[in-house]
Amino acid sequence: MIRYCSRCGVPKILTAEHRWDSSGTITLARDPSHRMVIVDNVALTNILDSLEVRAGAPIEAIVTDAKRKSGRHFMDALLSGVKGVAVRNLASASVYRRLVNQASILGLGHAEVTAYRRHRFLEGVITDAYSGPAIAGDICGAFDSVEGRAGDVHYEVDAAGCLHLAIEASGRARPAGPDGAAASAPVLQGRNIFELCPVCKAPVELGARFSFDMDHGTIHESKTGHRVVLIGVISLKGLFGELEAELGPDIPEAVMTVEKDRVREVIRGKGKDLDTGPEGWLHFIRTLRIRGMGNGTDASVSGDNVKVRVENPYFEPLVAGFLAGFFEATTGREAGVAWTRSDAGHTDVTIEPALQ
Ligand SMILES: [Zn+2]
Repeated sequence: MIRYCSRCGVPKILTAEHRWDSSGTITLARDPSHRMVIVDNVALTNILDSLEVRAGAPIEAIVTDAKRKSGRHFMDALLSGVKGVAVRNLASASVYRRLVNQASILGLGHAEVTAYRRHRFLEGVITDAYSGPAIAGDICGAFDSVEGRAGDVHYEVDAAGCLHLAIEASGRARPAGPDGAAASAPVLQGRNIFELCPVCKAPVELGARFSFDMDHGTIHESKTGHRVVLIGVISLKGLFGELEAELGPDIPEAVMTVEKDRVREVIRGKGKDLDTGPEGWLHFIRTLRIRGMGNGTDASVSGDNVKVRVENPYFEPLVAGFLAGFFEATTGREAGVAWTRSDAGHTDVTIEPALQ
């Protein structure tokens, strides 16, 4: 079976299961309320590493726990209803096979189930895992959901970089449900029109920008070689919400700063002279939408100040950091950054030279 589009190289199943919407969002085809985003994996790693340094203590357990909650929530929704009951009773092994297949499509790594006993334990080996603590949480959340009981999770990384994961059913009841789906902002309609691949109907830009390897479970940005992953927006927000609750209210600012520094270095590394006027900014904010980060609709430049509006931002601090990185790379000045909450569906990001 041919798994990739012969024209654009995008996995056919990825295109079948997702929609790139005109509003700057990516959603699941079967459930438009479930939003996905393409995140730079270096950004994720940088942020978690930097928050750990700030905290002065390991944060792996917080990461695993947050991902576990959202993973369970997602699987519960997937398995709800009559079909779910049948799956839980009859075919749970095949649910895990489906899940590891899904992980490789999303670029989370290549997983194999090595041992499984229903209601008792699940063991697996994961190569090219996007993040040890995060994928441990993803899989443990699925275990909690499929088995209907809480598991104890252990994992270690061997010398070759393979992650060995073991989940054992505990006597404990499943932890309380997710912390209430955060009130979600309305989705603002957009007018983006993607040129589509004539063969598979994926956005042409998707295949042009990224290369997909379902055997290794990886996706890379072709131009930079950077790894990216597709993850649920609820899952990502849940993770940062949990980190903020545990580590303090200045976490969003810290997240913004780490992302700003990363983007600045990537753009500087390209060594091109970039247009820093409104046209340059409009061009830059158009790169948000193929990743499902939101819909950059407006950019105004007045003197040293830049104001950008992004509709449907997936996470405001990361959008603000992404934009501020462009500012610093193109002006050579340190940015002072502010953003508004997107309760009404959009965020306004204001960037100006930082006060020295
Ligand atoms: Zn195609």
